[in-house]
Amino acid sequence: MNATLVAERGCICESTEQSESLTLKAVRLAERLEQSVRQIIVGADQNLGDMEMEVERQSREFQRAATEKVAQSKADLTPPVCPVCHRPLSQVSAGHERTFQSRFGEIRLERKRGYCKRCKKWRFPADHALGLEESAGSSPRVQEMAALLASKMPVEEASAVMEHLTGVKMPRATLDREAKRQGERACRLREQLDEQARQSPAQVGQPEMVLEPYQMIIQTDAWNIRERDEWGQTERLRRAGQEPERWHWVYMGTCFRLNQRGKTAGGRAVISERGFVATRAGIDALREQLHAEAMRRGLGQAAGALVIADGAVWIWRLADDRFPEARQRLDFYHAVHHLAAVGRALFGEDKEKLRQWLRPLVKQLKNQSAIKVIHQLEEILATIPSGPTLVEATKEIHYLREHQKRMDYRTALRCGEPIGSGAIESTCRQAQCRFKRPGQYWSRQGDEALLCLETFWRNNRWHLLFPHNRHFDLSKN
Ligand SMILES: [Zn+2]
Repeated sequence: MNATLVAERGCICESTEQSESLTLKAVRLAERLEQSVRQIIVGADQNLGDMEMEVERQSREFQRAATEKVAQSKADLTPPVCPVCHRPLSQVSAGHERTFQSRFGEIRLERKRGYCKRCKKWRFPADHALGLEESAGSSPRVQEMAALLASKMPVEEASAVMEHLTGVKMPRATLDREAKRQGERACRLREQLDEQARQSPAQVGQPEMVLEPYQMIIQTDAWNIRERDEWGQTERLRRAGQEPERWHWVYMGTCFRLNQRGKTAGGRAVISERGFVATRAGIDALREQLHAEAMRRGLGQAAGALVIADGAVWIWRLADDRFPEARQRLDFYHAVHHLAAVGRALFGEDKEKLRQWLRPLVKQLKNQSAIKVIHQLEEILATIPSGPTLVEATKEIHYLREHQKRMDYRTALRCGEPIGSGAIESTCRQAQCRFKRPGQYWSRQGDEALLCLETFWRNNRWHLLFPHNRHFDLSKN
């Protein structure tokens, strides 16, 4: 079929000049493609990858033109009504140009402009209909790409990866700015969603019928983010009269229902659905975000809740404060670590002795009771003469005694509950891989924005930020 023939047919069934040209473009594209791939087909050193690249390169202009055409049609159809107060606009004039970067390259649009007497502002209703914010130079899809890539990798890489994979050219600084803008938008949206969870907790919980009672598991942890290169030189700087930049804590939390935790065929623990929070805005921010997330995940309907974490004091304060009904459990591996510290005080560098001493105690701690283990340690303590060993052992035993009620691992294992906070620890490790790269400088605001984007992605709420993804279910990935 040749271009002229299709163009003639186009005259019959299509009425506008623009749709004819699009049809023509499609035919020309097909012809061009057939020409160029012929060389690839006969080329000995060219494979499917070359064909993919060629088809992608050739069809880009067609995709751009098609997007421009539909965008223009939508702009033309948008009534001159204020998108904010919905009143008709006055002094309406047409032909106001705007260009922006789309998924397939630069697009030019003409829109109507009118004055809203109520808002006392000039309005472009088409911009609103197309999802173009006032200052945005990029389409919603490009905004999304910038946000996603910047939250997953350093900006300088993100810019190169975006161009390589999609052909969209976005300089580093522009991509950085766009991602932060989206991240700040995500922070505002998170605040709204958390506010809803506080105001009407019954409405944000899981709407489905709860057939089986479940426990809500909550885990939290923190890691610190590199701020400046002076790390480790605090004392030297202070001696020189300088106050170094502090490391900043990133607080993270996760929550899931116990019955959503299972195992793979290989025995690895998996959680089918869980909520994440991450913030650099301090413990109070974490507490409120984590509570809102737990409510959204069904805390209100849970038969009980359990907070598992390492021994940090702030965690238990947070738990007492915001999850007063929840049981508390010290991470098992953390308890073992403190038990081992007693052993190291007793046996020094003799690793074999330490191992022999530790093994039965760890078993007892796991399968019998913490009280039994602590009693044995106290008996040992009574035999140690005063000195650094006694001081060290006393400190560790005191720690274990303090957490005694949080160490009922036997019951936990019987009920099929986790004894460790591995779920949050692995989440923190993943986040650190992204955020702790050498030479990276982070600002508090920029961090919070990127962390927030990451939680929208992980919580399967990306579509709330970028509604064009509303039919795309991330949990199926
Ligand atoms: Zn208005």
